[in-house]
Amino acid sequence: MKLVMKHLFGPVNSRRLGISLGIDLVPFKTCSLNCVYCECGRTSRLTASPAEFAPTDEVIAELRMYLASQPRLDAITFSGSGEPTLHSGIGRIIDVIKDEFPGYRVVVLTNGTLLWREAVRRSLLRADVIIPSLDALGEEAFKKISRPAPGITPRRLLDGLVRLRGEFAGRILLEIFIVPGVNDSEEELSRLAEACGRIRPDRIQINSLDRPGSEKWVRPASAEELARARSFFSGFEVDIIGKPGPRAATGAARPGGGLDEAVRATLERRPSTVEDLCRALGASPGKIEKTLAGLASRGLITTSELSRGTFYAIKKEGPKRGGA
Ligand code: SF4
Repeated sequence: MKLVMKHLFGPVNSRRLGISLGIDLVPFKTCSLNCVYCECGRTSRLTASPAEFAPTDEVIAELRMYLASQPRLDAITFSGSGEPTLHSGIGRIIDVIKDEFPGYRVVVLTNGTLLWREAVRRSLLRADVIIPSLDALGEEAFKKISRPAPGITPRRLLDGLVRLRGEFAGRILLEIFIVPGVNDSEEELSRLAEACGRIRPDRIQINSLDRPGSEKWVRPASAEELARARSFFSGFEVDIIGKPGPRAATGAARPGGGLDEAVRATLERRPSTVEDLCRALGASPGKIEKTLAGLASRGLITTSELSRGTFYAIKKEGPKRGGA
């Protein structure tokens, strides 16, 4: 019998996390921010109010069903097409993984904007790794990059991150996304470096545009611009997020079926090149190209050209997306 998995995707071979099963807790595209570089496209539901966006029991049932076969995974990662901490049941889902499948590492990718809420911080305390973002602290740069839901301010974001560090015993990998011309001034980078002194992340990951973002004016930072940004964070462990490595098989069963399903689930959440898909899903270029041709013949995908090659994405209903 074919399993229908609505909330799990991958596993993908992630350059940062290894073989990672994704859990997507919110409908496309529900987020407290509307970042100009977002690879999922523009936010259609901009909200800072947590809710049970998908039935918690349904997510837990899918996880139990999939993890019962003890798939080989390096991480179970809350990510996907929006902000996972907006889901009010995330703490209960993490508890189930840690209580029933303690061998798996739990990772939460978050924009950090809800961490000022004590209940949200508490819900994440049993995770192993939290990867929050912090892109700007100046009001103008923050608004220009993040376009937040009402009530979200840089001050609140920083306060939440500092409190999280005081309460969370796991690893915090702070991601800073450089948008050239907006958050790479000396003033802004100095502010971010000062904030890092208070947040005390285990590592800082400096990132830049690598696939189509939601706004066409955003461009990737050059190697020189990234190196300059890095120089502001001396005293910290800093990674510049590099290009994807060579293809490797994930070796883990795919929830919900075959390659066709896995390619669709991946492209629904991030535009990818053939090379990205090969690497993420551990499939040969021939198989990926054949799958893409099948999806194209059914009118399900769009393409766009960037310096890294042709990016494929699933056509979305609803608001028109820019750049993706
Ligand atoms: S990049 Fe993350 S935080 Fe920003 S809009 Fe996209 S999903 Fe939301």
